[in-house]
Amino acid sequence: MKRILVTGGAGFIGSHLSERLIKDGHDIICLDNFFTGSKDNIRHLIGNNRFELVRHDVINEYFAEVDQIYNLACPASPVHYQYNPIKTIKTSVMGAINMLGLAKRCHATILQASTSEVYGDPKIHPQPESYRGNVNPIGLRSCYDEGKRCAETLMSDYHRQNNIQVRIARIFNTYGPNMALNDGRVVSNFIIQALKNEPITVYGDGSQTRAFCYVDDMVEGLIKLMNNTIGFTGPVNLGNPQEIKIIDFAKLIIKLTESKSSIVFKPLPSDDPAQREPDISLAREKLNWQPCINVETGLLKTIEYFKKLVC
Ligand code: NAD
Ligand code: UDP
Repeated sequence: MKRILVTGGAGFIGSHLSERLIKDGHDIICLDNFFTGSKDNIRHLIGNNRFELVRHDVINEYFAEVDQIYNLACPASPVHYQYNPIKTIKTSVMGAINMLGLAKRCHATILQASTSEVYGDPKIHPQPESYRGNVNPIGLRSCYDEGKRCAETLMSDYHRQNNIQVRIARIFNTYGPNMALNDGRVVSNFIIQALKNEPITVYGDGSQTRAFCYVDDMVEGLIKLMNNTIGFTGPVNLGNPQEIKIIDFAKLIIKLTESKSSIVFKPLPSDDPAQREPDISLAREKLNWQPCINVETGLLKTIEYFKKLVC
């Protein structure tokens, strides 16, 4: 049994991770400022004596005795992280500094939820960890991309300078139940629009690609990374390498929801990456991890979740 801090624990991935860690027998402190997370995501855990909920903002210091820290606190959807970009970059950078300080004091292992966005609009495809990326440092997405890149730097420097045990996960597009209704990302937008038989909003011509990982697979990957005994720090890509064009994804959602929705085309947001697909060779080799839930199965579970919210 370990004492584990999950920052952003009331968010989409954090809530699944907290639930799984409790099932595995650990004591969890779920820390969140509820900017994009919700008590609804963790309501079923409140009252469990292994679960503690703390309202706190990671840009401020936090003290507790813990063995492991999963640092997930940060809005992940472009709509949310661009709402207050200065706060977003503070969350990534000051949040990482505060959590690394805590890891140092407690001799805890810390896992940073990094992102495929560190590759920006990639010129190499699929993206291996060795690729250094193509990021616009002054664009609308930079508050997120550069904040996450800086957090990776901080993790690496605390590891080198203070011998902190760090883990860096580069998370690619992940989806599943507990995504917020107003999340604004493609999976939730398309499913909600399809369930309401409203037009599906494809940005650009839909030729851009993404690769979608079901949240249970992601949680398994994060836990394997945290607990690896070979001292593997990463960065390591975690995601599903099954690449799909956004236009084909729209058609798939229409099919799976048996929707009458049409497809409409809207302007492509600035700096929207044209293609994205993880090279997960390193995760396979070092963690013996790969996703096992195919996209249709994962989407059907996600559709069931959204049906309860919108129908
Ligand atoms: P989410 O927005 O659902 O969860 C983030 C959580 O962090 C929310 O509960 C939010 O309230 C909390 N939070 C935000 N700012 C905070 C702050 N300053 N202090 C304390 N709590 C704060 O997003 P998610 O999809 O669950 O993403 C979790 C992590 O994984 C994020 O760090 C994100 O960058 C990373 N990530 C996610 C994806 C994805 O596809 N879901 C992809 C790449 C990286
Ligand atoms: N997208 C879209 N319609 C939507 C929302 C998103 O076509 O209603 C596109 C978006 O432009 C991007 C892709 O879907 O090319 C994935 O967007 P998302 O916001 O989910 O995450 P990103 O991977 O860009 O961070």
